[in-house]
Amino acid sequence: MESMPKDGPVQEGRDFATELIREYYAKSSGIGPGKIESREFGVGTFDTKILSRHLSFKTKEELKGYLVANAPPYISYSTAYYRNPAFRPMENKGWTGSELVFDLDVDDMDIECQKKHGKSWVCENCLESVKSETIKLIEEFLMRDFGFSKNEIAVNFSGNRGYHVHIKRESLQSLSRKAREEISDYIAGNGITFEDFFRFEDFLHTSGRRGKKLAGPRPEDAGWSGRIARSFLSKLKAGPEALASAGMTPAQARSLFKKRALLEMGVRNGNWDIVEIKNKTAFWSALLEKMAVAQSDRIDKNVTKDPTHLIRMPDTIHGGTGLVARNVGSLTDLESFDPMSQAIAFNGREIEVTANADYEIVMGGRTFGPFKDEKVRLPVYAGMYLYLKGLAYINST
Ligand SMILES: [Zn+2]
Repeated sequence: MESMPKDGPVQEGRDFATELIREYYAKSSGIGPGKIESREFGVGTFDTKILSRHLSFKTKEELKGYLVANAPPYISYSTAYYRNPAFRPMENKGWTGSELVFDLDVDDMDIECQKKHGKSWVCENCLESVKSETIKLIEEFLMRDFGFSKNEIAVNFSGNRGYHVHIKRESLQSLSRKAREEISDYIAGNGITFEDFFRFEDFLHTSGRRGKKLAGPRPEDAGWSGRIARSFLSKLKAGPEALASAGMTPAQARSLFKKRALLEMGVRNGNWDIVEIKNKTAFWSALLEKMAVAQSDRIDKNVTKDPTHLIRMPDTIHGGTGLVARNVGSLTDLESFDPMSQAIAFNGREIEVTANADYEIVMGGRTFGPFKDEKVRLPVYAGMYLYLKGLAYINST
């Protein structure tokens, strides 16, 4: 789009947004993390998400007073606990522990729609993709592999196009940076090799001849082993294209797909040799490597390894969208969560904007746009969403 005027209309829009943010906080109650007195806070402007840090609050009431008085476009808090969170530099704060947090964002994912609409736009597919990655992280890794229970896991929407997953287990708070890196490596599948999951076993043919059989993971195995087998079977079921996308040639994919019933039976029993494959060690090694990367690269960077990291505070405003970084609740709530309806903060009136957006947005169950330099009246949440994304300016409120 063409660039919007930088002076008058932008500042007026910001003043209006600030008033909406102030109203939101004035009506709010109970915002603020547990152990609030041990956290460091950082606030930002519309231009910079964290401009000043080292803030601290003794109580949620004190925090609310600050939010109403200042109406910051962004506020983040430390996943770390400190004896003196306002002290500086960092070494003087007296770190006593950090929550374990996973941060998933569309920005870190390589999804097709982004090639079309660019990185700054967020479409329904973006939001669905990051939600399903978050569900996968929780179900596959946090619950199945690490054994966390549902009530130890808290999820909140980031306010734009991601989710933060917090683990509420006291004993994990003292984990070192090294330990957090190991968790990250495990989830990313870093260092996975063929030899970790496959081996050649001696076996006796019915003819009496001795042979070697390639034994590999079974779908019900724990951890990565089962994940690899399940992932392969789902590709086998999906067809030759899915198999080819996992790294085999179209001819190999077609040939395996033809023998899928037999191959599936073999893999279910840990026998990956039931279908004849040339250079099978190289074949399965290449496929394994490709599958591990595809499974994990999206989550790779997302364990918050830096114990002094500040992360958006649940139930506060995201100044780039006007949405709330909503606390989602349980895993079941996450499955049906629609941020473009359930994270709406500003409501109750319409504003007139001049909008320029190439794609439609669906908010609050309604569809708006696309707009080509058009004057339109929109619900305040939709008008502000476009304005804060730099795709509209406000004519009248
Ligand atoms: Zn998209």
